[in-house]
Amino acid sequence: MTTESALRIFLFWCGIILFYVFERLYPYRPVTVSKSKRWINNISLTIFNSILMHLIFSAAIVSTALYVEKNRIGILNITEMPESIEIAVTLIFMDFMLYIWHLLNHEMPLLWRFHRVHHSDLNMDVSTATRFHIGELSVSAVIKIALIFFLGASTTGIAIFEGTLVLCSQFHHSSVKIPKLLESVFWILFVPPSMHRIHHSVIIKERNTNYGTIFSVWDRIMGTLLSAVNQEGIRIGVGAYTRPERLVFHQLLLMPFTKAVK
Ligand SMILES: [Zn+2]
Repeated sequence: MTTESALRIFLFWCGIILFYVFERLYPYRPVTVSKSKRWINNISLTIFNSILMHLIFSAAIVSTALYVEKNRIGILNITEMPESIEIAVTLIFMDFMLYIWHLLNHEMPLLWRFHRVHHSDLNMDVSTATRFHIGELSVSAVIKIALIFFLGASTTGIAIFEGTLVLCSQFHHSSVKIPKLLESVFWILFVPPSMHRIHHSVIIKERNTNYGTIFSVWDRIMGTLLSAVNQEGIRIGVGAYTRPERLVFHQLLLMPFTKAVK
């Protein structure tokens, strides 16, 4: 295992524990379905995905970044620039690409088949952050490798992007009550839980907004930002999936191949 993957796993579990503790101390709202059953499914999916992704893609992503760095391939390697600028550009560019990818996951019926696994969670908390189908993660990893090539991102840049991505995603999925002032400051540039909660609404018009992961600026520029929603009234999930007993691990794995739902 490379140092990068070990660090990633360490950061991931630290984030899970940290936000879980926050959720216990300052819960946003009571759960409506069994938390332990949801966690068993979400964490099983996370472990299953991590093992497969590690075996298939982890080395490929790191070696692409190393190869690109060594051979000075990609836009960032055309001219010499300070490492801090390179890292900032990597973070901003990769986050924008992720915004586009997320939007496509909602707009293209084939991609939505896979992405609905993430949205079918009936409550939203830190465990939702990694509830993804392996199909979606695999395509996203292939795109990431192509983008590293195109951009010429360094291993450090990619590691910082990945780390920020994990913590931001865990934060905005967590069911934590955040002080109003802090939330409104966060709304300006980043994605707080209230913004992402709207994205997990069963109402399709609300769901197809707020695609940002790290920065909220992309939603502002592209006109997909939605804020005027009564937070207390948001029902989390996908309208077609209301029964938790139908949303267990193996059914989540098979979900993309079952009938299409909006
Ligand atoms: Zn989504």
